[in-house]
Parts: sequence; structure tokens; C-alpha cells
Amino acid sequence: PEVLDFEPYAAGLSIEEIRERYGLECVIKLASNENPLGVPPLVQKRLKASVGFAFRYPKPDTPRLCKAIAHRMGVDPSRVVVGNGSDEIIDILIRVRAVPGRDNVLAFKPCFSMYKLQSKFLGVEFRQVPVEADFTYDLDKLAAAVDEHTALVFVTSPDNPSGYAPKASLLEKFARSLPETCILVVDEAYMDFAVPEEEYSIRNLLGELDNLVILRTFSKVYGLAGLRLGYGMMHPALADYLWRVRLPFSVNLMAEEAGIAAIEDTCFYEATLKAVHTGREWLAAQLSALGCTPKPTQANFILFALPEGCPLSAKDVFEKLLERGIIIRPLGSYGLPDSLRVSIGAERENQAFIDNLKEVLA
Ligand code: PMP
Repeated sequence: PEVLDFEPYAAGLSIEEIRERYGLECVIKLASNENPLGVPPLVQKRLKASVGFAFRYPKPDTPRLCKAIAHRMGVDPSRVVVGNGSDEIIDILIRVRAVPGRDNVLAFKPCFSMYKLQSKFLGVEFRQVPVEADFTYDLDKLAAAVDEHTALVFVTSPDNPSGYAPKASLLEKFARSLPETCILVVDEAYMDFAVPEEEYSIRNLLGELDNLVILRTFSKVYGLAGLRLGYGMMHPALADYLWRVRLPFSVNLMAEEAGIAAIEDTCFYEATLKAVHTGREWLAAQLSALGCTPKPTQANFILFALPEGCPLSAKDVFEKLLERGIIIRPLGSYGLPDSLRVSIGAERENQAFIDNLKEVLA
């Protein structure tokens, strides 16, 4: 009965589903914060060369990839744990650190669904503190909810679904206020898109704060969502715990090659940042011009509300866009039924979204 309490993870609608449902030729997906430029060219080249080795098992501890990540992020490889998406790192962090029936895990509300799902599945109490009405974080309120049994606190920066990122100085103050036994996990899935990154990330504190974990993913800026690759950076002793329980081959051979190549393809990385920053500014301006309220964002997506007095609900607008072949994300499942989230796409995708939204709102 406990298992039946869970639903299989419902991913967003796929392009193929919408194409078939509405008999459309062209469908644009701006719903899952994927990379607007696709897969890095160097990854495509390397994967062709490495597919012939797919009959071999990969090395269980993925050492070449860990070294490449460590080099890129300026940390020792002993601090890096890679997983089948950062989802897997979230799962094993809760597994190794939180004792079911005794400990609790804390996060803001709303937040990325995986923190709650995995806590609940592992039998660990999950607590939430609401974000402010403007989606900013009151970190003092979060600190007040920490008790002696808080094993982990998840803070997403930039946040999903709002795009808000607290300044590094605020997060640092919060990190230093936590008891040593409580691990602060800063989920930086979207941090590459923040401007400037140094003003928001506290990863430079990894060497100093033993209870700090930083999560990153290859699903966004590196364009590898379908290959499933993410990682955590943490104290080597904690990393050692994670390696003990991680499934041995959860990062497959192709994903390892792809991750290394994605880090090397700095041209693609720079082009992605440029496309996201330009598209983000343009989309926010266009949404405002339509009377919508886009929230300030440091991520590769924008949360927005419809114009005041709009006769359509957010769900109506989502569905009308869907019929026209534009997939965005309604936020009912985040407890935000009046908000919508759109990922920054390529230039023509952004234009198509705005053109269609204009018609839907007319
Ligand atoms: N954290 C946040 C905040 C996310 O939005 C996502 C993906 N939507 C993830 C983690 C998981 O990323 P991955 O694809 O690496 O599992």
C-alpha cells in the first residue's frame, strides 16, 4: 500500500504526442528547460567514435569524467560524485544521510519535486517553508525551521520554477548558521545562466564548509538531458559514503564520453549562454509588452502571470498554445495554478511562442 501511494513520474508532454494529437507538422517544446541549441557538436562526434565500445562495461567510478569535472570546477576529484542525472545524487544524499523515522529534510515551497518524492519514498519526513509572495527566499525563516534532526536542507539557486537566485552573501550567512550535522545542498542546476555567476554561487566555500554540497547537471547548459548525467561536489568523506551506495554503472559509457566532450566544447557552452541571455531579455520584454508579469530570472526559463483581468486561466492558455503546437509548462503541480513557465528557446522558437501567445490573448 505504501508503494501504491506513488505515481510513476509524469514527465512533460513530448513533441511526438502533441504532433499526433493535433495533427501538426511543427511542434515547439519550451517546457523542460532544455538547451535551445541541442547537443554540443563535439559530443555528437565523440559519441559516433565511442559507440563501438558500448559492449564493454564502463568503469564503475567513472574516473575520467570525475577528473574532467573537477578540473573544470577547480576542486579535487575526490569531492566529485557523478550520477544518472542530479536526480540520482539527490536520492543517494537522502539515503546515506537521513534516518527514516528520526530525521527530517527541509526545503522551500514550492520546490523541485524530487526532494520531496525521494524523502517520502525513503520514509523520511519532508518539511517545507513557503517562499515569499514575490518568490524570494527568507533564509531566516528557513533557518528557524531547522532542528536537531534536520539532516539535509535543499536550497535551489537559481530556483525552479521561479528563476530567483539569492545573492551569495545571503546564502553564505545561512550556510554558516547551520549546525555542522545538517548538510546544506545547494542545487545549482541552472547556475551557469546567472549573471554574474560569482555573485550567486557559493561553491568557492566547498573547501571551508564541510557540510556544503553543490549539485550541478549536464541536462541544461551542456545539452545532455536525454543522456542523464549530473553530479555533486562535497567533502571527500561524504563523497565516499555516496560512492558506497551508488549503483555501480548508473553513469553509462556513452554518458561518460559525452560529459567529457561537453566540458571540452567551450564554444558550445559560450553560444548557449549567449542564446539564453539574449532570449531571456527579449522574452521578458515581449511578455511585459503583452501585459503579462514575467518574474526576474537568473535561469533559462521565465515564470509569468497572465495580464490582470484576462478572461482565460493559465490552464486555458496552456491548452490553447498546445493546440497550436507550443508546449510550455503550467505550474498547477507546483501549487501555482495562476502561473506559467516558459523555457528560453532558440530565436525562432521564442518568436513563435510570442506570436501564438499574442493571438491566444487577443
Ligand atoms: N534540480 C533542479 C532544480 C531541476 O530543475 C532539475 C531538472 N528539472 C534537476 C535538479 C534534475 O536534473 P537532472 O536532469 O540532472 O536529473
